Amino acid sequence: MQTVNLPRATKVYRRSFFDQSSQCQLCGRRTRALVCADCCSLIQPLPSNQCRCGLPFNAPSTSAHEASHPPLCGRCVRHPPAFSASSALYPYEFPLDILIQGFKHHGKLDNERALEQLIGHTPLPWPDSDLICPLPVHWQRRWRRGFDQSERLAHLLSQIWQRPVLSALVRQRATPHQQGLTRRQRQRNLRKAFRCQANVQGHHLVLVDDVMTTGSTAREASKVLLDAGAASVRVWCLARTL
Ligand SMILES: [Zn+2]
Ligand SMILES: [Zn+2]
Repeated sequence: MQTVNLPRATKVYRRSFFDQSSQCQLCGRRTRALVCADCCSLIQPLPSNQCRCGLPFNAPSTSAHEASHPPLCGRCVRHPPAFSASSALYPYEFPLDILIQGFKHHGKLDNERALEQLIGHTPLPWPDSDLICPLPVHWQRRWRRGFDQSERLAHLLSQIWQRPVLSALVRQRATPHQQGLTRRQRQRNLRKAFRCQANVQGHHLVLVDDVMTTGSTAREASKVLLDAGAASVRVWCLARTL
C-alpha cells in the first residue's frame, strides 16, 4: 500500500492554497483577498429596480406598487416572458466577464471562489420561493467542462437561501450559441431544447443561470416548467448582458 507523507502533503497543500489566494485573480497583484480592492471597485451591482427580464431601469421605483410590479421594457411589452420576474446581480461586463469565463471555460476554481465572494449573502429576492432550479447545459458541454456552472451556483445559493435544489430541467438538445441570432432564429434554435423530469406541480421556482444574455433561454425553460405545473418561475442570474 502506498503511504502518504502527511507533513509534506500538508505543506504542499498549504503553499498552493495560500500562494494562489494571495494573488488577485484579475490583475495578479498581491492581495489577501481573491480579488483586490481596486478590481472589486470596478464590479458594481445593478440597481434592484429591474424589468421582468432583468434589465435595470435608471429611475428608482417611486411606489411600493411599482417596486412589486415593475414596469416593462419595450421588448417585454411586445413579447412578455413566461417567467414573472428576474433578479440580476451584476452587469455582464469587464472585469466580471473575465472571472466568469475563467470559471466556465477553464474550470478555474479560484475564480469560482471569487464569484462566491461577490455573491456574498445576497438575499433571496422572492421569499415565497420553495425550490431552486438550475438552468442546465447539455450533457456534452457538461462532460467537456467537467461541471455545470448553473448547477454549482444553484447549490451555493441553496446554502445561502436555505431552499433545496431541484434539477428539474434536462437540456435534451445541444443548441448552438444564441449570439447574433434574431429573435425568431433564437426561438427556433431553442424549440424542444428542454424537458422537465421532476414534479414541479404547484411550486414557486427560482431558475438560476450564471449569465442572462437575451433571456431567450430562460423564456423557453420557464415555459417548460410552467407547462409542467409550476405555480411560478422567477429568474436569478449572476450577471446580465445590458
Ligand atoms: Zn486586482
Ligand atoms: Zn424587459
